Amino acid sequence: MVQRRGSDLTHIGPVRTCIGCRARTLPSELLRVVVVDGAVVPDTRRRLPGRGAWLHPDPDCLRNAEKRRAFPRAFRVQGPLDVERVRGHLEQCGQEVMGSPRDQQEARKQVDPS
Ligand SMILES: [Zn+2]
Repeated sequence: MVQRRGSDLTHIGPVRTCIGCRARTLPSELLRVVVVDGAVVPDTRRRLPGRGAWLHPDPDCLRNAEKRRAFPRAFRVQGPLDVERVRGHLEQCGQEVMGSPRDQQEARKQVDPS
């Protein structure tokens, strides 16, 4: 049976598009990012308000998104946007197993004072 990648995900649930490689996949596969004060920041808890964009937690996708100026387009702002915090986050992620329970616990421990 031939399966077309991407198109057969829709029955599982809502899919999101990675702004780096334009692949459609489940939100659980992607990192949500939002803009705070002109900088793109990772929203690991997916609780930050505002318009979000979705990106594979992969430095290649980040690079692609930058190259294509996908961030300003996704957030409907005049670019350029600072993506250093996302880059730092992805570099950290690369050293750990993605989506491990430990990672999620740590994210929960960091209580945002704002
Ligand atoms: Zn991607």
